[in-house]
Amino acid sequence: MAESFDVVVIGGGPGGYAAALYGAGIGLSVAVVEKEKVGGTCLHRGCIPAKEFLETATVFRTVAGAKEFGVQTDQPAVDFSVSQARKQKVVDQLWKGLQGLMKSRKITTVIGTGTYHGNKLVRIDDGSELKATKAVILASGSVPRTIPGFEPDGRLVMTSDEVLALDKLPGSAVVIGAGAIGCEFASMMADLGTQVTVLEALPKMLPGCDSDVVDVVGKSFKKRGIDVRLGVKVEGHQPNGSQTTVTFGDGESVTVDAVVVSVGRRPLTDDLLAGVAKVEVDDKGFVTVDAKMRTSEPGVYAVGDLVATPQLAHVGFAEAIVAITDILGEDAIPVDYGKVPWCIYSHPEVAFAGMSEQAAKDAGIDVVVSKHRYIGNGRALIIGEPEGMVKVIARKEADGSAGPIVGVHMVGPWVTEQLGEAYLSVNWEATPAEVGHFIHPHPTLSETFGETVLALTGRGLHG
Ligand code: NAD
Repeated sequence: MAESFDVVVIGGGPGGYAAALYGAGIGLSVAVVEKEKVGGTCLHRGCIPAKEFLETATVFRTVAGAKEFGVQTDQPAVDFSVSQARKQKVVDQLWKGLQGLMKSRKITTVIGTGTYHGNKLVRIDDGSELKATKAVILASGSVPRTIPGFEPDGRLVMTSDEVLALDKLPGSAVVIGAGAIGCEFASMMADLGTQVTVLEALPKMLPGCDSDVVDVVGKSFKKRGIDVRLGVKVEGHQPNGSQTTVTFGDGESVTVDAVVVSVGRRPLTDDLLAGVAKVEVDDKGFVTVDAKMRTSEPGVYAVGDLVATPQLAHVGFAEAIVAITDILGEDAIPVDYGKVPWCIYSHPEVAFAGMSEQAAKDAGIDVVVSKHRYIGNGRALIIGEPEGMVKVIARKEADGSAGPIVGVHMVGPWVTEQLGEAYLSVNWEATPAEVGHFIHPHPTLSETFGETVLALTGRGLHG
């Protein structure tokens, strides 16, 4: 006899646990089926571990540059096993907190692999069954994509899963793919002493980012000795003892201690659907959903990396809220995917919301643009991080003035923490005149956003 719940969620990552927490917080009875640990990729093999290692790189750079501030220190050396242990401590603390929160909301967590069998029935691999009376939410997430010839072996060829479990960094590495993961790993490893070569198939790093922002990251990478090769095809690799030789482009090659494959993530639908389930999956393996996260089968929803939307934990959170709201029969506001916040934690950091200048032009929007660099910002000079800029793109009104802000793109110190007001401005469709009216404390990094917006009114203060 299957145990009944209002909602049964398959997958306990950010999409699944957010649906469970939000639903249970409103009074629904919820069960979550998770094959490993609640928290998912983000907590155990993704965002949190990666940012922990990037913080190690920041501490390393700070100590290496301490003399400039008159602080005498020995030149730093890194013991990555200590960073690995610290990462685990942070992850375990968050994991414990999440389990406690789920328990306090009376969410039932079932450890096992769940398969959706149709008729709102979920079967666990131990033979037990869960029946949903209101809805099933599919949130089984994604796994790293690989490329033929580069199957991960955990030694010479790794994906993010293996890199984030390392106790020691390789002396040299090829990173295949210059997306968010590739750039974060390249940045972290190079700062901690690895000789890094990045091989990217497209002519530009960081797809989706504004070109001015990408230029700043590219220059910083170059200055720090990262060899970025764009528009190259990776042919294969030939292991030779403890190293491997990667061939690419026009007969070129590089011999390294490790290869990191970061060419995207694929939705994890293995074992997800069976029986009379009528959930449609597209040709790339993503579960298809409408704006309210409803799949093709009534009463079944899908959220997070399993659906073809930005693969970001916070997008999973937002989608979970949409799904639960719809399950409650309320009018859910769909996620506006063109305006979600993006944060990349490389050095320098990247953060943006809304359209890039090129994307706006491609959409036929007449724009006005303003850019301000952190070199003119007092706080940036004080902290010794003057690299980077803020770029604001607004719709051009018929009289030439700046209308609603359509995109804000930032690169530089702590921009991931500065994106909030930019995100609000884009989503509120505020004009520079409206936002420019607000005060930014002095001296702060956030003044650069204020100055950039003010400049778009035609009356800048310092710029
Ligand atoms: P991605 O799709 O963002 O980037 C992959 C890159 O690899 C692309 O630039 C692509 O052109 C390149 N590529 C693909 N095949 C290649 C090949 N054979 N040779 C050379 N280059 C090749 O994927 P990702 O960086 O792996 O990240 C996966 C997902 O996780 C993305 O959706 C990303 O946004 C998300 N993520 C986001 C963050 C963040 O925002 N901080 C961090 C990690 C992951």
